[in-house]
Amino acid sequence: MSTRAFDPQNFYYATTPPPPPRAPLKGEVRADVCIIGGGISGLSAALHLAERGFTVALLEAQHLGFGGSGRSGGQTIFGYASGQEKLEELVGKANARFMWDIALEGMKLQRELIARHVIDCDYVAGHLHVGVKARHDAELRAEVESLHNEYDYRSVRLVGHDELRTLVPSDRYTTGLYDSNSGHLQPYKFTLGLGAAAARAGVRVYENSWVTRLEMATRANADSLAHTVSGTVRARHLLIAGNALLGRLVPELARKLMAVGTYIAATEVLGEERARALITNNAAVADINWVLDYFRRSADHRLLFGGRVSYSGVDPFDSARVLRARIRRVFPHLADTRIEYAWGGYVDITPNRAPHFGRLAPNVYFLQGFSGHGMVLSGIAGKLVAEAMAGSAERFDVFSKIPHGDFPGGTYLRRPALVLAMLWFRLKDLL
Ligand SMILES: Cc1cc2nc3c(=O)[nH]c(=O)nc-3n(C[C@H](O)[C@H](O)[C@H](O)COP(=O)(O)OP(=O)(O)OC[C@H]3O[C@@H](n4cnc5c(N)ncnc54)[C@H](O)[C@@H]3O)c2cc1C
Repeated sequence: MSTRAFDPQNFYYATTPPPPPRAPLKGEVRADVCIIGGGISGLSAALHLAERGFTVALLEAQHLGFGGSGRSGGQTIFGYASGQEKLEELVGKANARFMWDIALEGMKLQRELIARHVIDCDYVAGHLHVGVKARHDAELRAEVESLHNEYDYRSVRLVGHDELRTLVPSDRYTTGLYDSNSGHLQPYKFTLGLGAAAARAGVRVYENSWVTRLEMATRANADSLAHTVSGTVRARHLLIAGNALLGRLVPELARKLMAVGTYIAATEVLGEERARALITNNAAVADINWVLDYFRRSADHRLLFGGRVSYSGVDPFDSARVLRARIRRVFPHLADTRIEYAWGGYVDITPNRAPHFGRLAPNVYFLQGFSGHGMVLSGIAGKLVAEAMAGSAERFDVFSKIPHGDFPGGTYLRRPALVLAMLWFRLKDLL
């Protein structure tokens, strides 16, 4: 799957100092571990494995951060997109509680990685989940109560309408759930920082190295092979972390995942005072709708505004125009503000919106399907894979217990089926 059409206007790519290019794979290379995918999942696994003494070769089809990790809204959000209640239904209360703790560990790990590897990625604490309808007040109140009472998660609080207006001066929102433990960062800088740390730890990173064929070892004492057009990596362990851009390389993974197009616009520089006035506490903001709007301030005082999913897999509309209309709905006074960048990418969504981790063979692991919470979860997921490859698979294996169905409609029908599903969800958002 190509995302080239989205590329020219990616604000992060345009404003981040270019990293050193890394040569493509040539010939046969041996390593303890081969990793496919240079996003946060693959790079976190690579870094943690190298720190444990493994030799690692990482193959990236384009460049580090080419996928969601270099395109994202950068919102670092607590928990799982499925919600805890859904997880409890899927794996029972004790496992769901365990996964909750892992997600919190993921938030801590992210901050530790930023500090330990001195990653300059504009990290800011604070996140607001906001309602747009009167009925959302009760939903947000119930969520805060459940997080306090059942998960003892005390960093969240309900923000009433009057206070919310002082934080986000917009008529659109009713109440909010504020979390001081969530936040936002510049995702491409974070990804490149992880890449640099992994390279310093000895990971061999190959860019422009698209894996076109895999030979997966079915026995634990045999090697797997990952082939690109110009070379092969032979390794005892394999991690497939291509996520929403993996395409059909591994059909059994493709069936469980929907790559959903979403788009972000960056306004022109607004200046510090105007930018501050939009979100006075500098939190990241996401609304509660299914087809949600999400936005935040950038370090150089722009508004970065994302929204408008496309489940049809095509993007015939002019995303800047559509996003401008959505910005106007929230902040009418920005109607004439120029959009300087607009880009998009594919989010990795599973049907139940719980993450999809597991093994395809004893030494062949995969990570995908963070469903909009990948900024935090992909980092801790990489660490869990490293633990499992080093012989302590207990934590990783809890995630393998989550049952995942195929997307409805089978491989070829699932896009039309999802387009219909999305029309239904849009309708629900309007009610
Ligand atoms: C526009 C957008 C906004 C988002 N906003 C948020 C947000 O605000 N908060 C949040 O938590 N999440 C968000 N997400 C989701 C989040 O970005 C992802 O869940 C996360 O980055 C996944 O990381 P990853 O490493 O698993 O995958 P990716 O970052 O997608 O990396 C996968 C890499 O694998 C490579 N690859 C694929 N196939 C092959 C192959 N055959 N050979 C070699 N390499 C291959 C790809 O080129 C890619 O670089 C957003 C995503 C998008 C697109």
